Amino acid sequence: MDEQKPIHPEVVEKNIHLLHQGFVNWASLAMGKPPALGDFRWTDDLILATWYMAEHGRVPANGLEYKVGRSGGGFDRLDLKFRPESEWIAPETAVNLTLPLNRRSDEAGELAQRITIGLPFYGGGMSYGSVSEQVMLSRARAAQAWQTFTCTGEGGYPPALLPYKDHIITQVATGMFGVREETIQQARIVEFKYAQGAKPGLGGHLLGDKSTTSVAQLRESVPWVSLFSPFPFHSVYSVEDHRKHVDWIKAINPDAVVSVKVSTPHDVDMVAVGSYYAGAHIVHLDGSYGGTGAAPEIAKKNIAMPIEFAIPRVHKYLAGEGIRDEITVMASGGVRTAYDIAKAIALGADGCVIGTGDLVALGCTRCSNCERGRGCPFGLTTTDPELQLLVKPEWGAQRIGNLYRAIAGQLDGILRRLGLTDIRQLRGRRDLLVYRK
Ligand code: SF4
Repeated sequence: MDEQKPIHPEVVEKNIHLLHQGFVNWASLAMGKPPALGDFRWTDDLILATWYMAEHGRVPANGLEYKVGRSGGGFDRLDLKFRPESEWIAPETAVNLTLPLNRRSDEAGELAQRITIGLPFYGGGMSYGSVSEQVMLSRARAAQAWQTFTCTGEGGYPPALLPYKDHIITQVATGMFGVREETIQQARIVEFKYAQGAKPGLGGHLLGDKSTTSVAQLRESVPWVSLFSPFPFHSVYSVEDHRKHVDWIKAINPDAVVSVKVSTPHDVDMVAVGSYYAGAHIVHLDGSYGGTGAAPEIAKKNIAMPIEFAIPRVHKYLAGEGIRDEITVMASGGVRTAYDIAKAIALGADGCVIGTGDLVALGCTRCSNCERGRGCPFGLTTTDPELQLLVKPEWGAQRIGNLYRAIAGQLDGILRRLGLTDIRQLRGRRDLLVYRK
């Protein structure tokens, strides 16, 4: 549960600003509670700290909590066990944060590109329609600057992203919206989205007022008509079916790295092993805490397994199968901070996928109006021709890039204090975690 604490002066200042714009109600301010800024997971402090990092490229030194939220569970109940200062890695010793994504030593590994990202995370799928082209461009530019990736989500591949194609993952999901041969051919990584941790079993839903003419054109659908992505893929009910999907991608683009995004049902360990045998290079576990404000709360809180349970389960099962070093495990679903990334890796993931953090860097307040066409006051989760102009891609890329710089700096510091020189040495080191009572 949330604990009572004094309201930070910056929260008050920011909310007075929001108040003037009409986004915060007077009653919540008058009651002396932190007003409509965040929730127990993305707290007011975490949002403000992320804004600071997006502005300055470093963590705030003014008392804002930038490491954990106040959910009372998950990553917020785990601490990293640092060594005494005398055992820290010295500043002159380099620390490696890079992560290879294709580790397979078999033919599937040989045929595909050997991609290594500069940071142990990349940006998760957000479709054109769920967010604006300006937001997609901001993310793509930041991904390029930091030698990592961002993902198109399920909504097609806007041509404006083409200059950044070496840093774009294209997604194939159940609605097959915008899936075209040429976009698969130009992608270095193709992601199959089987499910989303925030709403497993429910598929996707884009409301009609977000399906503008340009969105519909890319999705090859009818403008202003709601679009549903069904669950599941009706062509996949087994590992063998999944293998056919992977083979289909490889027939179109033989050197593509293939990722499989799955939610976290109770048998997620079997799903991960099946993904490997189907030929995937990456299994992306999407736990239950993620999703934008468009994901129903009841689904987010009640269906999938929390990511901190799913990661060690999959890690152990893959190791038992003798294939742990053959497949990359990426984790998402509520990964907010550098500390969350380090904890996810210590639990057994190779790296993480972040989404909401990018939006918060661009000004998101977690107000949960994402599903409506003109609901986002900051022009993020919109394709409205006027509202989307609130984000300039140069500005957005700078903000997200600054956030990545701050995260990279923190990960470097975390590794040094753990006595490690490579992010890969942290994987599965559950002995470096303590449960906060
Ligand atoms: S509507 Fe905009 S500000 Fe509100 S949660 Fe969605 S992205 Fe964030």
